[in-house]
Parts: sequence; structure tokens; C-alpha cells
Amino acid sequence: MTSSCIFCSIIAGDIPSKKIYEDEHTFAFFDISQVTKGHALVVPKNHHENLFDLPATDVSHVYQTVQKVANALKDTFSPVGLNLVNNNGEAAGQTVFHYHVHLLPRYDATDGFQAKWEEHGSEYSQEDLEQMRVKLVSTLSDQK
Ligand code: 5GP
Ligand code: ZN
Repeated sequence: MTSSCIFCSIIAGDIPSKKIYEDEHTFAFFDISQVTKGHALVVPKNHHENLFDLPATDVSHVYQTVQKVANALKDTFSPVGLNLVNNNGEAAGQTVFHYHVHLLPRYDATDGFQAKWEEHGSEYSQEDLEQMRVKLVSTLSDQK
């Protein structure tokens, strides 16, 4: 629990929220902004800032709850799709620094959510991609 953290305060019940689900490790509630109907957040009960800091056990617990809540949103509101969004770092749009996953049920192209998706594949040669791949694989093997 970090006392200055709004999501820690919500989990503790010190700030009211529209709770959807709670178990030993995770908590789910409606996002106050309701970007699309049913927009929900899933958070680990332990305070960790972002994906880079999140212990693997919490990754597992969070995504089990994400799937549970996603299925409940699907069965309740009958969306035609669902986006998961997780912003890590201010530059990526994170505004609350307690790890969370947004669940955004989708209804149509004007339902409130849009992701800009530009293609830049033509700016990378096969050699560029191979160099990037080799570097990344090396970093991954160092992590073991
Ligand atoms: P981020 O921008 O960090 O990915 O998302 C933070 C989200 O938290 C925003 O979508 C915002 O609407 C939501 N949020 C911020 N404060 C509160 C609050 O007090 N209650 C609820 N339910 N959601 C909040
Ligand atoms: Zn917190």
C-alpha cells in the first residue's frame, strides 16, 4: 500500500469505486472515464508502478482476472470486440502509476476508443530487422 496512490486507496476502500471483482491478488472496477460502455480496470493488489516492475506471479494473477472480467463484459454488454490497453510510463500515456490493464469493450467505430496504428515497416530493411532481432535475443538470453 502506497498512501499517495489512488488505486491503493480504492483497493483499501478509502476511495469509493464501482467494484466488479476482487480476489486475494487482484481488484477490478469501472474506470471513471467510461471511454466505452463497461470500460474496466484490473489491478494487482500489490503496488507496482508498471509492467517492468511487476513480479511474474502478479502478471499471472492480473491476466487471469483480465480474462474473467473480459468474459463477463462480453456476456453482459454483448460488445462486438474488446481492446486491452496498458500504458507504461508517462510517455506512453500512463497517468496513474499503479499497474493496471484497461478493458475496453468495443461496439462500433464511434464508440469512444481509437488507436492510431501507423505502418513503418518499409523504413526497416531485412538487415535492420535481423540486427534488431539478434540484439533483442541476446538481451533475452542475458535475463535468464
Ligand atoms: P492511465 O492513463 O494511467 O493508463 O489510466 C488511468 C485511468 O484511471 C484513467 O482512465 C482514469 O479515468 C482512471 N482513474 C483515475 N482516477 C480514478 C478514480 O478515482 N476512480 C476510477 N474509477 N478511475 C480513475
Ligand atoms: Zn498503488
